[in-house]
Amino acid sequence: MERVYNFSAGPACLPLEVLEKAQKEFISYDGTGMNVMEMSHRSKEYQDIIDTAGSDLRELLNIPDNYDVLFLQGGASMQFAMVPLNLMTKYKKVHAVNTGMWSKKAIAEAKKFGEVNIVASSEDKTFSYIPELKAEMFTPDADYVHITSNNTIYGTKYNAIPDVGSLPLVSDMSSCILSEEINVADYGLIYAGAQKNIGPAGVTLVIVRKDLVEAAPEDIPTMLRYKTHAESGSMFNTPPTYAIYMAGLVFKHLKKLGGVQQMEKINREKAAMLYEFLDNSAMFKATVEPKYRSLMNVPFVTGDEELDKKFVAEAKKAGLVNLKGHRSVGGMRASIYNAMPEEGVRSLVAFMAEFEAHNS
Ligand SMILES: *Cc1c(COP(=O)(O)O)cnc(C)c1O
Repeated sequence: MERVYNFSAGPACLPLEVLEKAQKEFISYDGTGMNVMEMSHRSKEYQDIIDTAGSDLRELLNIPDNYDVLFLQGGASMQFAMVPLNLMTKYKKVHAVNTGMWSKKAIAEAKKFGEVNIVASSEDKTFSYIPELKAEMFTPDADYVHITSNNTIYGTKYNAIPDVGSLPLVSDMSSCILSEEINVADYGLIYAGAQKNIGPAGVTLVIVRKDLVEAAPEDIPTMLRYKTHAESGSMFNTPPTYAIYMAGLVFKHLKKLGGVQQMEKINREKAAMLYEFLDNSAMFKATVEPKYRSLMNVPFVTGDEELDKKFVAEAKKAGLVNLKGHRSVGGMRASIYNAMPEEGVRSLVAFMAEFEAHNS
């Protein structure tokens, strides 16, 4: 069976090498005579899998010792509630930036726990940019600041993190984690659903400063308390064992490729190839201001809905799948996460050029 180039926003493509490794270990993992899915999470073999996944991730992101790495369930969407539950402790107030649908969902959930001060929004121009943020906006009378680093649906990203003073910065990095270098110490908490840039759906990554874990109230539900998971090495209950195993294979793969620094270089090249074509095309147009363009999600339009549809259908026939834009914005979107090979982007650009020549 021939593989396609899958531009899905999530769940998204995985590195072929990782899939092949999992296939090789499918019937019997490392001489155990069983699949990882069939293994007790309390076994020595599984402990090794989760420990290695954690330490490889620490290495990849250079995570300081005063941060916990947690493998949780419930998706990034669960973090929309877990973050305020654990972190909205003193002022019962959060500063938030509204840069799209996922920001809005995080804001709506935080409102259930306290006051949300929306310091800036890009909704006036359908979230096609990142609003300018000034240090004065982040008054110290809040528990933390929430941002969405990469906006999966609209294709925008922050180029610099806002100056939030001494407040903990919390970021939803679901669609950009491991795609470019970050300084973890700039953040109080980072969370990411796995199904975009890490591995299969089912596991959610949380990187959180230990003092924030400690400061959380004790009377919140056990499973929703970071401390529960920090103290039990993400094994308070049965973790999503297979998803963590797959994430671990992806971490190993990234290390082999040269780590996050190398991924960033490749991602910049891939994105540049696509944006350059879009900026020179008479038919296709990128929807985001150049300054704020995502390296991971690239939305574009022809301006003609029928032509968009035709493009998506013909691309699919050519083995370039899942290029339809999010239902809320229309047009097209190519998600080019770490696992999308450069050859996939090259094929897409070649196909677009051909389509343009045939349809204008
Ligand atoms: C996909 C996505 C989510 C939702 O993730 P779930 O794991 O489905 O809850 C949240 N935030 C961002 C930025 C996303 O891309």
